[in-house]
Amino acid sequence: MIIVHTIDEVRQAVQAARKAGGRIGLVPTMGALHAGHGSLIEQSVAECDFTVVSIFVNPTQFGPTEDLDKYPRTLDADAAYCEQLGSDLIFAPSADEMYPAEQWTWVMTENITEGLCGANRPGHFRGVTTVCTKLFNIVQADIAYFGQKDAQQAAVIRRMVTDLNMPLEICVCPIVREDDGLAMSSRNRYLSADERKRALCLSQALTHCKEQVVAGKTESAALIAEMMAILEQQSAEIDYVSIVDPDTLEPVEQIAGPVLALVAVTIGKTRLIDNLLIGLNDN
Ligand code: AMP
Repeated sequence: MIIVHTIDEVRQAVQAARKAGGRIGLVPTMGALHAGHGSLIEQSVAECDFTVVSIFVNPTQFGPTEDLDKYPRTLDADAAYCEQLGSDLIFAPSADEMYPAEQWTWVMTENITEGLCGANRPGHFRGVTTVCTKLFNIVQADIAYFGQKDAQQAAVIRRMVTDLNMPLEICVCPIVREDDGLAMSSRNRYLSADERKRALCLSQALTHCKEQVVAGKTESAALIAEMMAILEQQSAEIDYVSIVDPDTLEPVEQIAGPVLALVAVTIGKTRLIDNLLIGLNDN
């Protein structure tokens, strides 16, 4: 495995792999890797001949009051983990390498970015779609792997790739959870022991919702109220609780087919998100 920091180096390495007839996989990350990222890397290694993991804490997707400066940076440990999983290359550029001049060109997706996380994080998805477009253009992978953990991000990227005819496949991998149900996240390390316990309310609220739907409840408003009650019991500050169509992310009022339930809360000072796909035949 090699670690490169410049666009030229990644292009050269990928070109050589492609000449050898290889299928190229890309796993975009912000580092501080955990088993959630690991599952994406493993899938790429299993399906592709050459796996690129990008590690870049992208400044353009953070708001001015968000955690850009304190976001964990653990390149040495990340590199060891990527190597252990069989990655071929880590692309860890500096902010100057990715944004050498003031950025005047942005990629923006409409509608699907306006609700949920987009409502409270203005500019966030513009940063995500722009950096992913840059990474797609730099690496020119055949397939890029994203996690269902960031459900809105995955839906936005899928839509961008379809709308702009980008020549790669997007694979969305299931959420990896801790044994007690907490969705793995680089931000979980911000939680104190007490907050870590209270953070279980996210997966508990979503599981409750799923059980109720499977038992025949169809009215989203009632289900959302029940989820909010579970979150509030743990003094979670609610950003949103929503039940939406899994592809368009439009709110669903009466559940008649598969839906996506999502929650976003702040516990202490840490913003946490989680979601669950619910099919009517789940049990
Ligand atoms: P991040 O480093 O947080 O930007 O995440 C990089 C990629 O890993 C994104 O596509 C995330 O959705 C995915 N990811 C993060 N946490 C998990 C998880 N617990 N399970 C599955 N995928 C995840």
